[in-house]
Amino acid sequence: MAAHILVVEDEEKLARFVELELVHEGYEVTKSGDGREALELATANTYDLILLDIMLPGLNGLEVLRRLGNSHPTPVILLTARDAVMDKVSGLDAGAVDYITKPFAIEELLARVRVALKLHPVNGAGSADASGAGSGVAGPDVEGVHRWKSLVLDEKKHRVTYDGKEISLTNREFEMLKVFLTNQDIVLTRDTLLEKVCGYDYVGETNVVDVYVRFLRSKIDEAFDIKMIETVRGVGYVIKSEQ
Ligand code: CA
Repeated sequence: MAAHILVVEDEEKLARFVELELVHEGYEVTKSGDGREALELATANTYDLILLDIMLPGLNGLEVLRRLGNSHPTPVILLTARDAVMDKVSGLDAGAVDYITKPFAIEELLARVRVALKLHPVNGAGSADASGAGSGVAGPDVEGVHRWKSLVLDEKKHRVTYDGKEISLTNREFEMLKVFLTNQDIVLTRDTLLEKVCGYDYVGETNVVDVYVRFLRSKIDEAFDIKMIETVRGVGYVIKSEQ
């Protein structure tokens, strides 16, 4: 059964574009360009995911989110303006599972949609590939142990192995790899990686990120002849859990 996604966006061209891309990916899509109508739709129907713009006629997205309430089962991804930090914070507080900043690359939106459907299944729909336990790639099976295929990162032992062979990483490389492993299928921008690896107060250039990615690739991808860290042109990097 295809996951059913409610797209709430009043910019008709953007809404149409997102709809086409989602339908192309095999999702079922309902569109709404009005906050009040969206609230009614979301109350009357069980969607698997809601993509919710914040600036909307009728009711704004944050208000829609609040009125849906915390017990509403459908995960919500907010579409926010670039500098609307407070909107992001309020939105996450109000129960959104993720947000994406406009303008966005469609690959990033699709990646976040896949992750939200996988992590927050409403009826088990959309989670066909989220068998988790059996695949050995989804999340830590022991606290602090993260896996991707034959790669294992153990936080407590501060140790990384591939097929049992130890890989020697610097602290920064280790931290960056941990960020990738705990955010599989999420496209990470250079800014996000920089914040997570170097901290919010880091003052410097985001191309530091490219340097660390290069180090990781040489120690892992090239050393073991695999393709772990993928480049998403114009956006950042991603590790995909299924290939
Ligand atoms: Ca809008």
